[in-house]
Amino acid sequence: MSFSELGLSDKVLSAVTAAGYTQPTPIQTQAIPHVLARRDVLGIAQTGTGKTAAFTLPMLTILETGRARARMPRTLILEPTRELAAQVEDSFKKYGTNHKLSVALLIGGVSFGDQDMKITRGVDVLIATPGRLLDHVERGKLLLTGVELFVIDEADRMLDMGFIPDIERIAKLVPFTRQTLFFSATMPPEITRLADAFLHNPARVEVSRPASAATTITQRLVASGRDPEDKRDTLRRLIRGATDLQNAIIFSNRKRDVAVLHKSLVKHGFNAVALHGDMDQRARMQALDQFKTGTANILVASDVAARGLDIPAVSHVFNYDVPHHAEDYVHRIGRTGRAGRSGAAFSIVTSADDKSLSAIEQLIGNKIEWDGPTLAEVRAGGGAAAEGDERPARGRGGRSSSRDRGGRREREGGDARPPREPRAERQPRRDAEERAASPSPRGERPERQERQDRPERQARPERQDRPQRQDRPQHERRERDRDDGPSVKGLGDHVPAFLMRGPALPKDAKKRSADS
Ligand code: AMP
Repeated sequence: MSFSELGLSDKVLSAVTAAGYTQPTPIQTQAIPHVLARRDVLGIAQTGTGKTAAFTLPMLTILETGRARARMPRTLILEPTRELAAQVEDSFKKYGTNHKLSVALLIGGVSFGDQDMKITRGVDVLIATPGRLLDHVERGKLLLTGVELFVIDEADRMLDMGFIPDIERIAKLVPFTRQTLFFSATMPPEITRLADAFLHNPARVEVSRPASAATTITQRLVASGRDPEDKRDTLRRLIRGATDLQNAIIFSNRKRDVAVLHKSLVKHGFNAVALHGDMDQRARMQALDQFKTGTANILVASDVAARGLDIPAVSHVFNYDVPHHAEDYVHRIGRTGRAGRSGAAFSIVTSADDKSLSAIEQLIGNKIEWDGPTLAEVRAGGGAAAEGDERPARGRGGRSSSRDRGGRREREGGDARPPREPRAERQPRRDAEERAASPSPRGERPERQERQDRPERQARPERQDRPQRQDRPQHERRERDRDDGPSVKGLGDHVPAFLMRGPALPKDAKKRSADS
């Protein structure tokens, strides 16, 4: 099938030709005619399948008739992270080159002023992360009652990041009669429930998941000691020894490690940039840009920061940590070996990774080869990696170091939060990725953050609609131990009960005050 058979407008078709696409991808072939027929669509597809164009192209065609009104966007697209939102904006620029449509991006980390101005002038396409969108609605600057087409993208990521209550709130603000396009890579029960609630008689389109990694990717395991210094040594050795390395993404499970690893690589003379949830928006965009343009050839990233990003032609992927979720492994290594190119993926494996590794091998359906001795061989032979593996951290005698213990606590949802700050220093509410903060010491979900710019909100009652962390299944909680954005500052919205109590007055004082 060709693009011209899908019912897209001439303007869109000429932009598609200019983009160099000759044939629609399966998700595009299946979804575009339904979107143009104004049907709701449930799309089960992940990034890399051409999903963005599957909704962007028909939206552009639809938007050719009608015009935007002040403060009332005509279409709304929700994305879980700022980067994904920015990527969708880029798609509108690319495919909408023949259109004069107004597109606004509402993401955190950017001032409200410019966003307000754009909304006030009227926008055809509003692309937003849920938190920032609700901020604008609550400020009274944005009305969603004119939304004709509503896109919820990466719904399962939204679930992982705790945004479902926000999405449900937003869905109530858009008209009941709107057209809804709902995309998710997976359909866990919570997402099926949402899809049932939001979609009216949807056309279901599904494209196959990359259940196995592309065959063009050479995958190897590399045994290492558990100590971070050993792992960093191993990583440097791998990078230096990699043949044909043009550029590489190094994945770490924790955002804190991303920063440490990045610093260490730069210190050792590598041309590396970092991408993790604690960085501000400008720094994230800058890092991504440097990597995309080749100014830097190594990107150190966490899954949450990197997932879904369209980074073309990566020659190598290094897993500094074996991912806890087998699917993340497939996502990570899928960054290389794209479009028939060859690629290499090396995973540094320690004795802590047995379970994760078997889950990965089970998912991809085969054993991954070792580069050099296996972990078991190294253990048996007492090689360098085994030493590092079993020995206590360097220079810290026979006991595990506080750094190691701290690291473990972080993984287990323990004491990973920064020291508490006074209430006055709390951050304003943040969007998507940022607001999904690190786990608290007791393992409960942190409450939403307060905003400095809207003091009146402080007087409002706490929201009850957000699921508490302890109610969530173990695997979801673990998911959050990865880079879910910056840690909560201070107490978040949570005000301990003792602070809400009045001062203890002597009995006679109470009586006096009651009498007066
Ligand atoms: P997405 O899944 O939307 O993130 O798209 C992944 C990549 O595929 C992007 O770089 C798109 O530019 C590219 N792409 C989308 N549609 C097509 C197509 N029909 N032919 C070739 N490349 C495409």
